[in-house]
Amino acid sequence: MAEFDVAIIGGGPAGLTAGLYAARANMNAVLFDAKGVGGEILNTDLIEDYPGFASITGRELAEKMAEHATKFGLKVEIQGVTKVSSDGDRKILEMADGTTHTAAAVILTVGGEPIKLGVPGEEEFNGKGVSYCAVCDGAFFKGADLAVVGGGDSAFQEGLFLTRFGKKLYVIHRRSTYRAQAILQERLLSIDMVEPLTPATIKEIGGENIVQWMDVDHDGVIKRIPVDGVFIFVGFKPLGRELFEEHIDHDKDGYILTDSNMRTNIPGVYAAGDCRAQLARQITTAVGDATTALLHAERYIEELKHARKMFPNAPREVVAMSASRMDTLRFAADATIIAEGAAADRLYVITQGRVVVTRTGADGAEAEINRLGPGDYFGEVGLLTGASRNATVKAATPVEVLVLNKDTFATLVQSSQATANELRMVAETRR
Ligand SMILES: Cc1cc2nc3c(=O)[nH]c(=O)nc-3n(C[C@H](O)[C@H](O)[C@H](O)COP(=O)(O)OP(=O)(O)OC[C@H]3O[C@@H](n4cnc5c(N)ncnc54)[C@H](O)[C@@H]3O)c2cc1C
Repeated sequence: MAEFDVAIIGGGPAGLTAGLYAARANMNAVLFDAKGVGGEILNTDLIEDYPGFASITGRELAEKMAEHATKFGLKVEIQGVTKVSSDGDRKILEMADGTTHTAAAVILTVGGEPIKLGVPGEEEFNGKGVSYCAVCDGAFFKGADLAVVGGGDSAFQEGLFLTRFGKKLYVIHRRSTYRAQAILQERLLSIDMVEPLTPATIKEIGGENIVQWMDVDHDGVIKRIPVDGVFIFVGFKPLGRELFEEHIDHDKDGYILTDSNMRTNIPGVYAAGDCRAQLARQITTAVGDATTALLHAERYIEELKHARKMFPNAPREVVAMSASRMDTLRFAADATIIAEGAAADRLYVITQGRVVVTRTGADGAEAEINRLGPGDYFGEVGLLTGASRNATVKAATPVEVLVLNKDTFATLVQSSQATANELRMVAETRR
């Protein structure tokens, strides 16, 4: 069993980007991929919308990304992760080979898999004429009659690729209009060998050992059409949530929900790329998500260390939850962090710099009552008593603080009697 700061699950563009940033930050990181790095772009022919590369094959881009991350020292293991659970503030990763590893933070970049049509023959002929990847299988179909199913970008991109090999290509879509970008539609549908069939659905795929025909319902009429290959691109099913024992928030289609820092509802677990609920599923968005996720995970791991020190008696899972909800704020020297009389709404933990605490005396004059530095916290009195702030706290130097909101603070206090006692004792000396 190995212990890591961060474990990245999935080595597509998102995982490799998270890995690159982790390696450059010198973190104790590992990337696991079940099949080998590169992800979905290995199955993509030409990529023409990744900035800096006017036209590059998916395989070449994947290789460049992997080389880049490993050049900076990313540790990669080709091994599937089968389960992720929490033990205190650590995540436990169970691997396909039966081993386990632990990490403080997990970045989920597992992408997804193609949706099946669910028609008779599809499963039976998978790999025998039925395919979900033109780039992988197209070359086996030189001079063949083919069908591509779907109306989105993937179907059209893959269809274009298939025109290099087939002699006939049916484009089958259940609606009469396509979702694919106009430029892709123009390119594919203007090719002579291409015959669109819409609105049309495949009812069955059949043949003797290999695909030889498909039954298509074309505008209400069922026709048997001879084909050698059926390439299906009708959607995508995200992966990820099935790995978790505890509930991980997801949308109705199974995409993992995150905030803008890529945090999931599980402390220390982030999601990036195609497995995450968002508008676009592209390489650009995958690498952007992953950058944010890794940078926030790095911060979370630091916050976890502070939180462990600050609240040594709180259960580790509560410490992890608190750390995952902390925000970092920075103040310039002389800035007011807390104003006497203001509502008490958060707790502050100093990570850098010093603050000075003052209180207004009976004569109306402000007097210094305390000075605090790294490792100290303030703001607990008002949170414990429900009263407004009883002192002003100003930055004596540039200051960095971690901030815990009222609800998280309350959970911490309730989590253990020792933590509550400790906070109350400190508060007592500051009333
Ligand atoms: C046909 C097609 C054409 C496309 N064309 C373009 C294009 O031109 N431009 C563009 O920007 N985007 C394109 N895309 C989309 C692009 O490929 C994805 O947005 C991108 O690959 C997402 O990256 P990712 O890292 O999130 O996931 P993926 O690339 O899907 O990588 C996920 C990785 O996780 C691994 N994995 C999954 N489960 C586990 C597990 N349990 N344990 C360990 N590893 C696991 C998988 O093996 C895989 O390597 C295309 C997609 C398709 C299907």
